Amino acid sequence: MARCAPADSPVGPLAVRRFDRREFQRLLLGGGLGAFLAGCGGDAGDYTAEDAEQLARQMREEAERTGRGRFGVLRFRGYRGLAELPWFELSPEGRLRTAVELPGIIDVHTHLGMSLYAPLDQTRRSERVRHLLDCDATDPGCELDLDVYVNANFSEAAHAALSREFVAGAVGLGEATRTHTAANLLAEMDDVGVARAAVLPIELALPFAGSLAERWSQAIREGGWGERLLPFASVHPGDGDAAAKLRALAAAGARGVKLHPELQRFFPDAPEAMALYGTCQELGLPVIFHAGRSGIEPERIRKFALLRRYEPAVAAFPGVRFVFGHGGARDLEAAIPIARAHRNVWLDLSSLGVSQIDRALGALGPERLVFGSDWPFYHLATTLAKVLIVTGGEVAARDAILRGNAEALLAPPAASSARKVGGAPLCGLARAQRDGGSGGTG
Ligand SMILES: [Zn+2]
Repeated sequence: MARCAPADSPVGPLAVRRFDRREFQRLLLGGGLGAFLAGCGGDAGDYTAEDAEQLARQMREEAERTGRGRFGVLRFRGYRGLAELPWFELSPEGRLRTAVELPGIIDVHTHLGMSLYAPLDQTRRSERVRHLLDCDATDPGCELDLDVYVNANFSEAAHAALSREFVAGAVGLGEATRTHTAANLLAEMDDVGVARAAVLPIELALPFAGSLAERWSQAIREGGWGERLLPFASVHPGDGDAAAKLRALAAAGARGVKLHPELQRFFPDAPEAMALYGTCQELGLPVIFHAGRSGIEPERIRKFALLRRYEPAVAAFPGVRFVFGHGGARDLEAAIPIARAHRNVWLDLSSLGVSQIDRALGALGPERLVFGSDWPFYHLATTLAKVLIVTGGEVAARDAILRGNAEALLAPPAASSARKVGGAPLCGLARAQRDGGSGGTG
């Protein structure tokens, strides 16, 4: 099986010794980040012409069908243009906020600024958050179509600027990244009624970068934000110390684990990753994956996000709650049958268009759909608007997606065993945990 073993990984200890810190920062600024993260090997069959065609077809059909679904045309000017919808308004200062009572929302998918090489002042407030894909940068704002995968709203130039911002932000020079602070996230949460948010680091295992997971959970502790910001862990499955690091992060209060197969360059069914899910099972931590192809990533890393590589993981660890980030993204159609077959799979709805969210709701029911925003890529209201449109007057489904399901998902294992998972009693999960599960190796 193709795998991302430490020996052929660019992120192993050998890589650390090849650079000194200053050299490495120059490499980053010179645009060498992509080359550094060239990814581990794989088999020729890992990404086929059919895979590529399937993605191209999805994107073509999405563009053709926008506005033709049962919700009609949903195009706005900028994130602030969402104030035209009945649930939102602009404050006197021009901030987008909710105009109705909603259940204290739980957002399972946010990040802080990925400032890998420079500390970010998490208490800093800004007049305006510059989202990584910033639909409010111009006046009027960019056209925001809620019926396409969200990144389709942004130009080539905006996507190129996003890549540059990542690199600049990593070394503390990103103008936008400086606004991606906990204080700004909390202010936007207040605006739109988000009570709590899972904060997801991604462990890129770059030399000298330190651990975002450690840094962010420390900042949350020191800021006294632990009631509202739920720190997640992230480790690299190819790291020989991954299990020990995960245990330490869990002991420090991590509420789950974020893994990003594309950015971290590993196959979700690689042996090292499977071993890690065993540790997650033992610790009772849910796993939120980036899952599926977004359509804007480099083609060479798309093989890591194909849904067929996730199914062996969720099948082998029925006692672990897995969230497919972005509901499987442009590969939602491949995620749905997996979620149908495995009740330990949940879909976070960040980035999906209204017709895609409607499709997921129709195919799976509301019980395992959870609200996610992918802040600071987009304004928190973007996915929220879509969920409100799709659920319409179905208040029970709306409240489950915006809050109740995430409460069950994120509950510590002891408390969650008395609850229900996906509408079914949790005894299967409790039993799997007691028995060490099927295939759990720790
Ligand atoms: Zn994300």
